Amino acid sequence: MGQRMAAVLRTVTNALGEAGIERPGLEARMLLCAAAACDHAALIRDPDALLPPDAATRLQAFVARRLVGEPATRILGTRAFWTLDLIVTPDVLDPRPDSECLIEAALDQLGSRRNLPLRILDLGTGTGALLLALLSECPHALGIGVDLSPAACDVARENAQLNELASRTEIREGTWMEGLAGSFDVILSNPPYIASATIADLDVGVRQYDPRLALDGGADGLSAYRDIMAALPAFLDGGFAVLELGIGQAPDVARIAAAAGLQTLALRNDLGGVPRAIVLRKPDGQA
Ligand code: GLN
Repeated sequence: MGQRMAAVLRTVTNALGEAGIERPGLEARMLLCAAAACDHAALIRDPDALLPPDAATRLQAFVARRLVGEPATRILGTRAFWTLDLIVTPDVLDPRPDSECLIEAALDQLGSRRNLPLRILDLGTGTGALLLALLSECPHALGIGVDLSPAACDVARENAQLNELASRTEIREGTWMEGLAGSFDVILSNPPYIASATIADLDVGVRQYDPRLALDGGADGLSAYRDIMAALPAFLDGGFAVLELGIGQAPDVARIAAAAGLQTLALRNDLGGVPRAIVLRKPDGQA
């Protein structure tokens, strides 16, 4: 006889908790639901349902992978970001909840202008998380997402389709703003910002599973900011940019921005209280 869902959930939660995984209850529920192909509500509605043997086998494999450090996102191939469900493959960075503060910062800055026919650009779009989240909040906006990786571009296109945003989204393969013209109302980016030499010290879930292209910010972690900042002013004409920051990088990035003629309008903290987003514009801009 199979085991009951509630009992399985307890066993898996304990196993993940003992392994030091931060939110064992949540992750156990995610893995169980994926293995049993049920939604979270079903677990609450019917905790005494029996877990079918094939689902139990799948769950066992998922838990084994999680216990050696593979993130739940990689096991499931999906991630919830903002109000969207996104496909995540090995070719793209796993979008983090902390990055949602970029969307909050952009929406604060836009105020009621979020309903205008805005042009939005996302540099290094990966899954498309930032671009698609902001498009979902700006009903008349059009967005361009750029990524160097063709495989990432495919993922972003698929996510635009899945979230019914494809008609307002263009995904382009390329290097930052290369080949783009005109100005944008909002420019978003979560660039690679980890110093090359410190990638090896990151958590296994990051260093082994996030693509290096999405992490490696060069010797001091700031290379991508220098490249982006050099080009940014030409694409901002009354608009603003919201860039993600690595821990402790706000002063350096603000300095690079100032040297490029950009003014820091705001910093925004992530869920852990770390300044994670910087909002920039040209000093004469209206943003
Ligand atoms: N968020 C990732 C981390 O914390 C880094 C992503 C990036 O380099 N932009 O490790």
